[in-house]
Amino acid sequence: MSKNGLSMGSKEEILLTKLVQLLRNGDVLNPSRDSPVVRFKHPSELKELISLQLGSPTPDDTLFSTCEDIVKYSVRTRHHHFHNQLYAGTDPYGLFGAWLTEALNTNQHTFEVSPVFTMVEDALLQHVLRLVGYKDGDGILAPGGSISNMYGMVLARYKLAPDIKTKGLSSFPPLVVFTSEDSHYSVLKGAHWLGIGTENVEKVETDAAGRMRPQRLSDAVSRARDQGKLPLLVVATAGTTVLGAVDPLEKLADVCRKNGVWLHLDACWGGTLMLSKKYSDVLAGLERMDSIAWNPHKMLGAPLQCSLFLVKEKGLLHSCNAASASYLFQPDKFYDVSYDTGDRSVQCGRKVDAFKLWLMWKARGDSGLGRLVDDAVDCARYLRDQIAGRPGFRLVLADIQCTNVCFWFIPPALRGKPEDSDWWDKIHTVAPEIKKRLMEAGSLMIGYQPLPHKGLRNFFRAVTACHPPPAHRDMDHVVSEIETHGSSLFL
Ligand SMILES: *Cc1c(COP(=O)(O)O)cnc(C)c1O
Repeated sequence: MSKNGLSMGSKEEILLTKLVQLLRNGDVLNPSRDSPVVRFKHPSELKELISLQLGSPTPDDTLFSTCEDIVKYSVRTRHHHFHNQLYAGTDPYGLFGAWLTEALNTNQHTFEVSPVFTMVEDALLQHVLRLVGYKDGDGILAPGGSISNMYGMVLARYKLAPDIKTKGLSSFPPLVVFTSEDSHYSVLKGAHWLGIGTENVEKVETDAAGRMRPQRLSDAVSRARDQGKLPLLVVATAGTTVLGAVDPLEKLADVCRKNGVWLHLDACWGGTLMLSKKYSDVLAGLERMDSIAWNPHKMLGAPLQCSLFLVKEKGLLHSCNAASASYLFQPDKFYDVSYDTGDRSVQCGRKVDAFKLWLMWKARGDSGLGRLVDDAVDCARYLRDQIAGRPGFRLVLADIQCTNVCFWFIPPALRGKPEDSDWWDKIHTVAPEIKKRLMEAGSLMIGYQPLPHKGLRNFFRAVTACHPPPAHRDMDHVVSEIETHGSSLFL
């Protein structure tokens, strides 16, 4: 036995050694480009391959071999050929931070049980608040961007009508949320959960590049007022999910100021651009937002989940959310209880999500993180340029603001044909079929979707993120894999 009571043979130590082995043997941490990004199996096949039933105890050896299979059939998000989602691999420092906080099993609600991590969260938030340009702001880490967006909606509502906290909604006219037709679906979910109702979400038209039209917003707010409704807030987007569009923040801020409406920015995806020296201009006006949601677990590669909610007005987060539980937030504690930050949250127990990002930032500094972002955007632009000049490929948008590269592949048999509705019906089936072939080959993961409100049929969306740092050869791989698997279609 060592002094601290843990012998080298403790269960924890044995499992930790096993874990390292498993990650190594399973090629998880730095998967080679030659290994598959996925070994796709249908649910019915997975049921046969992995013993999922619970009941009687399992010996460790069997357990570890089951874990090997779980690793084997899991998607390698750290693979250079994973461009499927708005996240990919993780920053190694972030992963180290996540492992450490898991082992310490800390709960972020009070200084009493989380002395250091409470201060870490505060230090991180202060740094980001400065970066955003909030002079005296506040913030909290939330379990994901959907929840961070809900924080924005709740604070806007509390600011507009604090009585709703105690009396509920029944004595109020309908509240209306304005957001663009390209915004994230979490706005709808938030409207449902907060009793606002999804029919009271006004979808404002976007321009061809997917950015909210300020004049349309202004019209929609006036129309809601004329109908006796109460404009609650505008949810703008910096980095829409599909096209990566950034709404015109300054112009939207003008409309909101004129109308006295709260402006929340969903910067879950594009917020990471604020770290870049080269590409942050598109976020000009950030400091004019009333609140902001940002997901470092996306482009920046903090391990899931890591989401920040920031608000310009100090104190609001606490007065809005506090329930003052007397068993947890005793006001007569012997230390400075202003560090008991948990009552600002909607949660009781809360994971330490700040540390992962804090450690990445501490290691790399502002400039190091900024360079990673620059490289991710540069690589997306390289891919865009490759696609622009390639026969059979067609860009949906040439001017990209984030790292979303959206494009169609036109199989040789369909090239040069009249582009009537039959032709587009065929094109609509191309991306799903190529996707199927890529998944079966395990050679590339890339997303596709239609955008019906823009009349766009199925197209591919390739995304680059900071980890693993993308390279030109990985972008070339995207193009060549799609060509290889798509050239025989409609022959
Ligand atoms: C991903 C995303 C969200 C939701 O964030 P989660 O952490 O997945 O809940 C919200 N808005 C935008 C623009 C996003 O890209």
